Amino acid sequence: MNDMKLSFEKSRPGRRCSSPPSADIPQGYAASLLPAGALRSKPPRLPEMSEVDVVRHYTALSRRSFGVDNGFYPLGSCTMKYNPRISEELAALPGFSDTHPLEGEAASQGCLALMHGLSGALCEITGMDAFTLAPAAGAHGEWTGLLLIRAWHESRDDSARTTILVPDSAHGTNPASAALAGYRVQPVPSASDGGVDIDALRRLAGPDTAGLMLTNPNTLGLFERRIEDIAAIVHNAGGLLYYDGANLNAIMGLVRPGDMGFDVVHINLHKTFGTPHGGGGPGSGPVGCRARLADFLPSPIVRKEGDTYSFAEPPRSIGRVTGFYGNFAVLVKAYAYILSLGADGLREASECAVLHANYMMNSLRGVLELPYEGPCMHEFVLSARALREETGCSALDISKAMLDQGMHPPTMYFPLIVAEALMIEPTETESPETLDEAIRVIANIVETARRDPAALHEAPRTTPVGRLNEVEAARRPVVRYSFEDGD
Ligand SMILES: *Cc1c(COP(=O)(O)O)cnc(C)c1O
Repeated sequence: MNDMKLSFEKSRPGRRCSSPPSADIPQGYAASLLPAGALRSKPPRLPEMSEVDVVRHYTALSRRSFGVDNGFYPLGSCTMKYNPRISEELAALPGFSDTHPLEGEAASQGCLALMHGLSGALCEITGMDAFTLAPAAGAHGEWTGLLLIRAWHESRDDSARTTILVPDSAHGTNPASAALAGYRVQPVPSASDGGVDIDALRRLAGPDTAGLMLTNPNTLGLFERRIEDIAAIVHNAGGLLYYDGANLNAIMGLVRPGDMGFDVVHINLHKTFGTPHGGGGPGSGPVGCRARLADFLPSPIVRKEGDTYSFAEPPRSIGRVTGFYGNFAVLVKAYAYILSLGADGLREASECAVLHANYMMNSLRGVLELPYEGPCMHEFVLSARALREETGCSALDISKAMLDQGMHPPTMYFPLIVAEALMIEPTETESPETLDEAIRVIANIVETARRDPAALHEAPRTTPVGRLNEVEAARRPVVRYSFEDGD
């Protein structure tokens, strides 16, 4: 099956898709306008193909990729839900897609109104007072939020706060963002129920604490019940509370980070709010904060006076964190998603996401180990540790075997505190039939592991490429094609 040629290999000299009329400007005229150093010495090497072969090439490629439009995609922590097509259609309206960032405020009132409206909706959903829409991804939002925390402490001449506390169940971007923002990262251990170890937190919080980064529900899919105690401990120590809201899918319309005591929040619009996620973007990671931090927000923010919208720079802004105004088309999709679902619809989406995760968790708890008891929120974590000891089949083997059944595997080996972890997030957009089918597939694979473990080690067999050497692929990726002439 792995016989697909690159377009460069299909190329034949002179073959064309279309034949434009020949140019009526003298040859060499365009080149005469450019400085000699900017000119090519030879024409670019482009594949030369007929139109039908181009169409077949890309159609074949599209069939080899897997997405939410192909099948079940329970990649935990990533919220690979179906995103309504209407959001795409609205983002493609010429008034949004043909606008230019340098057009000026007067000509962009509609776009500014949308950004203003979206900021307001996100404030309402999260319980924050102000938002920046600029950050281009979740991790970018974390870094921006940490700069807000740093600016806050600096504004109070409190230079002793050098440490960010991060629970050991956190998403890997949390400690990375804290380090990038110049902080020392102090891990906080988890308690046996999967929540934060309160006694440990009490010992670790102190005059050097700049803040705590917390995901709630955490990466085990569990709601942190002691959140009020946690907020009190961090605030009493003089630190601020950062909420990783990448996965807001579990709580929209049900609880708000602001009401839990958080000071800063980032949201992944590309997980929860109508933008497809994956393939490298574009994403959007807006950051919200309480009023006392709003003066530090990145510029620009949108202000409304009377019926007029304008860009403004917050008085003590940390500066710009991205070019222009963030990934605008993603903002359009998020606003479309929020307005089309409405307050009731958003709550219902979260309730369904939680219901689906609990349904699957309870159906699979006898099939694989459930290391932390639910009820879960939008996702749950199983462990293949015992199965591996018994049969030699690992979480990786189960995942590869799922590919042969037309399903994307769950997130594996994360969170790090669970051995042989499989982190399953079914999302709200799946039908009961799809959930039942996924449960049946996973149960069958586990049964195969007991009966014929060797078969599992050979999966996947039906995909364009079989089992890859993942270490080699990560350490020595071959991402550049070498032409025969070595060019
Ligand atoms: C996805 C995710 C992030 C990072 O978001 P990116 O847009 O990939 O940078 C951070 N935290 C959690 C909990 C996430 O699930």
